[in-house]
Amino acid sequence: MSFNKLGLSAPILKAIEDQGYTEPSAIQAQAIPAILEGQDVMAAAQTGTGKTAGFTLPLLEILSKGEHAQNNQVRALVLTPTRELAAQVAESVKNYGQHLGLKSTVVFGGVKINPQMMALRRGADILIATPGRMMDLYNQKAVRFDKLEVLVLDEADRMLDMGFIHDIKKILAILPKKRQNLLFSATFSPEIRQLAKGLVNNPVEISVTPRNATAVSVEQWLHPVDKKRKSELLIQLIAQGRWDQALVFSRTKHGANKITKQLEDAGIRASAIHGNKSQGARTRALADFKEGRIRILVATDIAARGLDIEQLPHVVNFDLPDVAEDYVHRIGRTGRAGATGKAISLVAADELDQLRAIERLTQKLIERRYEDDFIPTHMLPDTTLDTRPIKPKKPKKPKAPRDQHAGAKQGNAPKSGKRRPAAPKAEMTPGQGLRSKPLAPARRNRKPD
Ligand code: AMP
Repeated sequence: MSFNKLGLSAPILKAIEDQGYTEPSAIQAQAIPAILEGQDVMAAAQTGTGKTAGFTLPLLEILSKGEHAQNNQVRALVLTPTRELAAQVAESVKNYGQHLGLKSTVVFGGVKINPQMMALRRGADILIATPGRMMDLYNQKAVRFDKLEVLVLDEADRMLDMGFIHDIKKILAILPKKRQNLLFSATFSPEIRQLAKGLVNNPVEISVTPRNATAVSVEQWLHPVDKKRKSELLIQLIAQGRWDQALVFSRTKHGANKITKQLEDAGIRASAIHGNKSQGARTRALADFKEGRIRILVATDIAARGLDIEQLPHVVNFDLPDVAEDYVHRIGRTGRAGATGKAISLVAADELDQLRAIERLTQKLIERRYEDDFIPTHMLPDTTLDTRPIKPKKPKKPKAPRDQHAGAKQGNAPKSGKRRPAAPKAEMTPGQGLRSKPLAPARRNRKPD
């Protein structure tokens, strides 16, 4: 299959060629024609499948046909959960639209609002935004949606996880009813289907990643190890395996900083990326990693989500995630585009519950490998595969409206169950309000990255 057959015009085909893409990915082959026909689309696709081009290319094609945006008007709105993802989508829009002359703007929180207001004054054919900043700009009358043609929700599952449901509902309420809707999500959970009901119209459904299945090209194993010796083991694995680069996941921001320091102390160039880092520091860390100036990027789940880092050979779970689905997202960062990746977990005895939840979700026991010098004194008990189906949880109605301008008070995280302990205090900003998803209190109220 070639891109020529998908109905895209010459300037876009030229940009695709400039990128060096020869064939559309599965999601692109399915989504592009449907979007060009004007249909609503619901697509289950993770980062790494080429989903961004899957909606960006046809979006550009559609927008290249109509009249350019007038002052303060927006013709297509792409909502993303994180600043990093917003910046990446904006970069794709620029790259794929380089021969078109359309105007695109990206806005997100954590940076000054005034330059964003100025940029919007001239209108944008495509606006890429995180939901909180989007609402702030709308409330300040910096943007109008009377002429909106297309709405894209990217990584909708993560937006719900991060408590953006109220912002999304508010945004939906101010958009014109007649518009095309594209919904992208890693999975179609019951919550996403609930959201979709009030959003998409008779959508074409596309799925390129089986729900909760881990990619076949990823070799997974775990090292049972005592908690205190994890850093030492990580350093040994990096050194002995002569790893080029790895993404290391930490459950907490504090943990990410600590691991980074220990790696640096061992002479391994590393940087941390998480919600407490300034936007500049995060952008720099990502650029340094992409360009090979640092060897190890240590990230929290929320910061790593949606990062476009190609074909990482190694992903390390320094801690197992509290939410089993995050394991699938994490290891999706390796073994991309046909290359085999390695997903390595360092598991201490007190992470048994998380391990069981992951194995139940993926329906696979993770192979255990023991390192001679790191045989744990606290043994990790054996696990057996729990084949009982996991019941989808019913979405709950939100309890209270979100306080838009609430300050960053800490510590009202809901009590949580054993498998999903509350996220550490540092990861939370209750000002983010409630979300409809009752599954993972650990993520509720997290500060968006
Ligand atoms: P995404 O899933 O949108 O994050 O894309 C993952 C990576 O795949 C990005 O680095 C894209 O540049 C790349 N990519 C997207 N489409 C193609 C394609 N058709 N052929 C090769 N690479 C692609």
